[in-house]
Amino acid sequence: VKGFEGKRVAIFGLGRSGLTAARALKAGGAEPLLWDDKPQNMLAATKEGFTIENLKSADWSEIDALMLSPGVPLTHPEPHWSVVAANAANVPVLGDIELFARTINALPERKRPKTIAITGTNGKSTTTALIGHILKAAGKNVHVGGNIGIGVLDLPAIEPGSVYVIETSSYQLDLTHSFKPDVSVLMNFSPDHLDRHGDMDGYIKAKLRIFAGQGASETAVIGADDQWTQGVLTEMNSHPSVKLIPISARRTLGRGVYALNGMIYDATTDRAKAVFDLKTARSLVGRHNWQNACAAYSACKALGLSAEVIAAGLKSFPGLDHRMQEIGRIGKVRFVNDSKATNADAARQAMSSYDQFYWIAGGRAKAGGIESLSDLLPRVKGAFLIGEAAELFEKTIGAAAPCVQSRHLFTAVAQAYAEAEKTGKPEVVLLSPACASFDQFPDFEARGDAFKDAVAEISKSIIAGA
Ligand code: ADP
Repeated sequence: VKGFEGKRVAIFGLGRSGLTAARALKAGGAEPLLWDDKPQNMLAATKEGFTIENLKSADWSEIDALMLSPGVPLTHPEPHWSVVAANAANVPVLGDIELFARTINALPERKRPKTIAITGTNGKSTTTALIGHILKAAGKNVHVGGNIGIGVLDLPAIEPGSVYVIETSSYQLDLTHSFKPDVSVLMNFSPDHLDRHGDMDGYIKAKLRIFAGQGASETAVIGADDQWTQGVLTEMNSHPSVKLIPISARRTLGRGVYALNGMIYDATTDRAKAVFDLKTARSLVGRHNWQNACAAYSACKALGLSAEVIAAGLKSFPGLDHRMQEIGRIGKVRFVNDSKATNADAARQAMSSYDQFYWIAGGRAKAGGIESLSDLLPRVKGAFLIGEAAELFEKTIGAAAPCVQSRHLFTAVAQAYAEAEKTGKPEVVLLSPACASFDQFPDFEARGDAFKDAVAEISKSIIAGA
């Protein structure tokens, strides 16, 4: 990390990214001062020879910055005490993306890598991975990370000519001040993840920081398919300060990039041109993926790739684990793992991609539950409910679909398969829980893996019985 030579930087929160930040700051000539509320977390830092400083009793007038680890509350429900102390002493509070941005900004222009940042409520990871894939397929030296996979500071060292594709959460953007991505992508907004920011306004404000550092030579790609991002577009159109590319997966745009009937149209120049047939891509099923594809197309176009090269990348994208991932078929029954759908909005995407299906849902309910999905319930041939939300979901579903209280995922898979198999017709068993996983699993990945294991178990028992 550059830009902190000789500075004393307090780091609160010594998880993986806190320690990475400490190492990077030290390597860049700063003096990191480490602290965590949990003594056991400080042990690893001590073993590495870092200075532990009790920030509760520290003299903040001698500290130049506070680096806050992801997951430490900034403002909601209450500001963390370290943030209160830093603010009182006028010490800036930063996150890992800020350290990354300062390192890039400290380089001479010709040595700076290109950066693409992606944010929004849904589709961030898919779009980030898709952009990374297209650029790789085009022969670029690409690093993908941020809020997915590898933290920005853990990515390979910055080299000129490389491209960093970075997924950024609103949490991270809250702590970012100097980031100036060559391309910023804002996908969509929906009222999820409000816990840290308290309300929609705070959440939107945090996400809009992705554009704050940008100027006339940078590009902003913005979704035009929900009321909130439409508001952002109107606002940005009235003070044009960046190159703006609106995208839509729902309608024709006078200017921008849009998908209509499974075809991507590029209307960034005077005349709209059909540039890609989404039906030829193996992993871009569903309207939400059309939005992701439009965003990725626009971002890569802004970096100078040709429509043909981008099309080749879109076509060969293998998709992401746990996102509408077809994991296998037993007889005529297909199993689709959409464990990543942790809220009703995300589940809606998968549910509207199939005319009829057996649905495995539940877990730790999000605000609003599944009430918003009522129009899709007629597609559900059977609901197999798991986790804490099972009873609540049964109440919401009511008579719209047959419900089974399966409680556990393994049971649900076996029950859903048994029902689906009985019909003798092609069927889909869809895990798209519309809930967080934390009541029964460490994370959504573990839930998706358990789903795959359950399907594998059924296969095995069928083979054994044959
Ligand atoms: P994020 O990283 O923003 O959480 P992902 O790309 O991991 O998003 O996708 C999570 C889930 O959200 C997917 O399983 C899919 O059901 C849904 N989804 C994906 N892209 C979109 C989109 N553009 N709009 C709405 N929902 C989406």
